[in-house]
Amino acid sequence: MNTDRSEALYAQACELIPGGVDSPVRAFTAVGGAPRFIERGEGAYLFDVDGNRYVDYVMSWGPLIHGHAFPPVLEAVSNAAALGTTFGAPTPLEVELAALITGAMPAIEMVRFVNSGTEAAMSAIRVARAFTGRDLIVKFAGNYHGHADMLLVSAGSGGLTFGVPSSPGVPAGATADTLIAPYNETDALESTFDSHGERIAAVILELVPGNMGVIGPFPEFLAAVRRLCDRSGALLIADEVITGFRVAAGGAQQALGLVPDLTVLGKIIGGGLPVGAYGGRREIMRLVAPEGPVYQAGTLSGNPLAMAAGIASLSALRAPGFHERLGDTTARVAGGLRTLAAEAAVPVTVNHVTGMLTVFFTGKPVRTLADAQSSDTRAFARFHAAMLDRGCYLPPSQFEAWMISSAHTDQIIDQTLPAAREAFRHAALDAGRD
Ligand code: PMP
Repeated sequence: MNTDRSEALYAQACELIPGGVDSPVRAFTAVGGAPRFIERGEGAYLFDVDGNRYVDYVMSWGPLIHGHAFPPVLEAVSNAAALGTTFGAPTPLEVELAALITGAMPAIEMVRFVNSGTEAAMSAIRVARAFTGRDLIVKFAGNYHGHADMLLVSAGSGGLTFGVPSSPGVPAGATADTLIAPYNETDALESTFDSHGERIAAVILELVPGNMGVIGPFPEFLAAVRRLCDRSGALLIADEVITGFRVAAGGAQQALGLVPDLTVLGKIIGGGLPVGAYGGRREIMRLVAPEGPVYQAGTLSGNPLAMAAGIASLSALRAPGFHERLGDTTARVAGGLRTLAAEAAVPVTVNHVTGMLTVFFTGKPVRTLADAQSSDTRAFARFHAAMLDRGCYLPPSQFEAWMISSAHTDQIIDQTLPAAREAFRHAALDAGRD
């Protein structure tokens, strides 16, 4: 596969942009090799600047649930653009998208649009702190909620701890009110609440984590999160930036039967344009300015292009049977990968929910961050490189989710699976060489 133009662009980009990319994981650091520079996308396919075609399992990390260049989204965006791209004043499109979201997610009675998932999570925490009059938040190790200072945090020494900054430039004070707990471990969360419950404003979590690879929550763990929040007066913030409108029409909260106090959204609700949102119970959201005293603003928030793309995207996934089909496709890919790995005698665990999956290169079940971290990341890197060579574009990290869209037809998946058969063999054959 010729990648000359990508490599030349990457070299140039590295002189102009830190690491050559505008978001770190894109640089392929975890798997090696130069990132592909993309020229265009169409349905389930990506085309790079050297003319190579790939079946895309990244789908811009989640927004493109209908595939690339989805005609209804393109039409909505171009119609909106013709009328002007931003006014800094309210438009009917914001009301329409807000109605679609609150209609699909009953726990969201009011919603505020922002421009990214990072902004949405940061703002939801601010309003939760204002509502409860408390400062502490609980975050789970391995969950990701964007790069706001208070959330760029890792566990300090000891199991349950106050977090320490996970990036230079984040002052210790910014993470001093963030408690870190292990995901899916009920006892640990109970201890956190025993020690600090009365001071906890909110627990924020990915209902089905995608950022340590796809991991299903234990039902008793989710029930404990809800119960402990209720008992102590803390708010439960569901981060559905990835799972919202993907795992089910009403998000993972619908699929799992959990009612959060606040929900953080992004990705699909912008149809591929920059957007985020947070929303929840009316009495909480009424605190947000100008209705209430909690300040939060944005020049381009709710801009007509993002709103129009979001409306087109959400409307299309209301088609009858949409999520059933997406679930069937995901199960087909996951099942195929399991079988092929077994044939190649490569120990893997494939976790999947509707629209997202991860192939963990470990033989043990993956229910915690520690389980995920037991994966053989070098085997994953070999698998990734072999898949890329065979025209399959996977997330360039073991600890990410493959995204499935409605454009991934059976025929396209049939192209992927033979590539995976060879890639698993490659991963196994090369094992031990490096
Ligand atoms: N929350 C979750 C669960 C995410 O996966 C992400 C980003 N992938 C974010 C928040 C942050 O969103 P953004 O990159 O739009 O700021």
